[in-house]
Amino acid sequence: MPNSSALRDALNQSPNNLSLLLLYGRACLEELHLDEAREIFTRALEQDPEQTDAQLGIAKVSFMEGNTSGAAVRAERVLFLEPDNVQAHLLLSRVFLSEEDRAKAIEHFDRAAQIDGTMSDPALERELGRTARDARKTTPAPAPEPVNQEPPPSGNDQDEFFDDPFDEPPYDWRPETFYAPGDPERGRVTFADVGGMEELKEEIRLKITYPLQFPDLYKAYGRKTGGGILIYGPPGCGKTLMLRAVAGEVPCNYLAVGLHEIFDPYFGSTERNLHQIFETARANAPCVLVFDDLDSLAQDRRQIRESQMRNLVNQFLHEMDGIRSENQRILVIGATNQPWALDPAFRRPGRFDQAIFVPPPDAPARAQIIELFAKDKPIAEFDNAELIEATNGFSGADLKWVFDRAAELALSAAIHTGQPVPITLELLLAVAKAHSPSTQTWFEGMNTHAKQQEGPDSIFNDMRKFLNAPSNSKTER
Ligand code: ATP
Repeated sequence: MPNSSALRDALNQSPNNLSLLLLYGRACLEELHLDEAREIFTRALEQDPEQTDAQLGIAKVSFMEGNTSGAAVRAERVLFLEPDNVQAHLLLSRVFLSEEDRAKAIEHFDRAAQIDGTMSDPALERELGRTARDARKTTPAPAPEPVNQEPPPSGNDQDEFFDDPFDEPPYDWRPETFYAPGDPERGRVTFADVGGMEELKEEIRLKITYPLQFPDLYKAYGRKTGGGILIYGPPGCGKTLMLRAVAGEVPCNYLAVGLHEIFDPYFGSTERNLHQIFETARANAPCVLVFDDLDSLAQDRRQIRESQMRNLVNQFLHEMDGIRSENQRILVIGATNQPWALDPAFRRPGRFDQAIFVPPPDAPARAQIIELFAKDKPIAEFDNAELIEATNGFSGADLKWVFDRAAELALSAAIHTGQPVPITLELLLAVAKAHSPSTQTWFEGMNTHAKQQEGPDSIFNDMRKFLNAPSNSKTER
């Protein structure tokens, strides 16, 4: 969505452009400039009183202002004109939810999910205790009856007391990215698909897999389950892949937290969403909770200006403490490529207990990754020692690029000669030699941050140790 000031400038040049009015109205809505949004959508309706996007825009403004009946009337009008309008169904679902009519709220939500197979609305799903995936599995219901049989009026709203729809705790809510063991949608990536990272794999097994396999042994040794692991390192070295592999590996519930499930444009109740995510994990323990791009949620509070973001970080810290005291059977894994941007409080004992550096793969890890990428490809027999040597400093993503590019070249040759052309060692070496490791800029940035850091910091020490090892000198170029 373009930002509203650019659109306002464009609109000043062309004040009656309906498309621009709608775009600007939506931008105002997103930025919560409600008065401005209402005025713009009203101008759009003056041009075309049946314009459903404008009707819906005003309905959303009314809802955000607490005028639920005004919102309902507008949304009903939209459905009268366009019975399959997904946004109108979702808004009506919210309206009914705020009026404590769950059945009607679910009816409209299901309808929206069935009309649009890609629809997802984490905040609403949480409130309803129902996912769009579940809704699609139910038999499509006939379109919900409109409240008024007469075409709903398109007139002005009436003010009404606003009941906070987030007042009630969620009803057995689980995000779409919550997977129980055996869930067919959980994914098939396992640790075998991740080259290297042996320390990390073992740490995850120790903290969640073995305690489930050998509960008596853990009891006998007084060892607890769960905790927090922070994984950090340059981009493309397999952190995200590793988080996906955890789903395929651990014999317990798994919840991958998406940022869209936390940030809530409607009510700004991001702290509460985060709390509910942790509550879901606690209610379904043993559970692994994974946060990719942790830095966007766990920022250093000294660098944050908005109080809402600061509150979120405080809430996150509080939830991590909850793991320590309330529930030992949750393992939280956070991944970031900007460890310096995290609030140092996350690294205190009891929160992210272990911080594990994921560097570019070393020679044995590269051997594993090369083997993984060579699998199922038309590759001529070769001794991979030379390729392992030539790719020192490469990330897993760089290695993938080498194989993809070599495959592309071999394929092109096969098409032009009409003969099968295998991917040879020479071709892989030529591609690798023309490529510089993508992690170089990251290490440069890391060095700058390390210089600014006061006092000893284990995170920077691990990274420096890695760089100072003679075999890794190429990475630092
Ligand atoms: P970012 O910090 O940018 O999110 P990342 O460290 O999470 O990067 P991934 O997204 O997991 O990196 O890696 C990109 C791709 O590179 C993977 O999907 C995979 O194909 C390949 N890859 C990277 N590391 C490995 C590895 N250790 N084993 C196998 N494949 C790897």
